Amino acid sequence: MEQLAEILKAKKLKVTPQRLAIYKVLYETSSHPTAEDIYTALRQSHPTMSLATVYKTLDALKKSDLATELNIGDDSSRYDATIKSHPHMICLNCGKVIDLHTDSLKDFKENVQKETDFDIVSEKVYFYGTCKECKSKKEQNKIND
Ligand code: ZN
Ligand code: MN
Repeated sequence: MEQLAEILKAKKLKVTPQRLAIYKVLYETSSHPTAEDIYTALRQSHPTMSLATVYKTLDALKKSDLATELNIGDDSSRYDATIKSHPHMICLNCGKVIDLHTDSLKDFKENVQKETDFDIVSEKVYFYGTCKECKSKKEQNKIND
């Protein structure tokens, strides 16, 4: 908590208990939650917190480069406290969003730059498909049929 408060302070964000709690949830998960997910996760420990506060806090974190918003074609945005650019895999079956930490994107970027002479500032890479768990569940169903 101390460390997270320091991060917020370093970005000149006012540290409130609610803000800190919201940032903590996002910081400690790799599930890329929606604002509603965070709200639900904190409802027991912070009963007076509103969904609007969650949205406002996420917005402040985004503006301070402490969170990114993922638009993956879902109804609601997903949030990520991992700022460093990384590709995401989205399961079309269960909606899971998985981080992809691989160097192959670096080569890809270099090739694109070479091929197009385009100065790339940022990129968003999403892969859509079926996750491992959903795939094995499907296999399981086939066997049971
Ligand atoms: Zn899945
Ligand atoms: Mn991520």
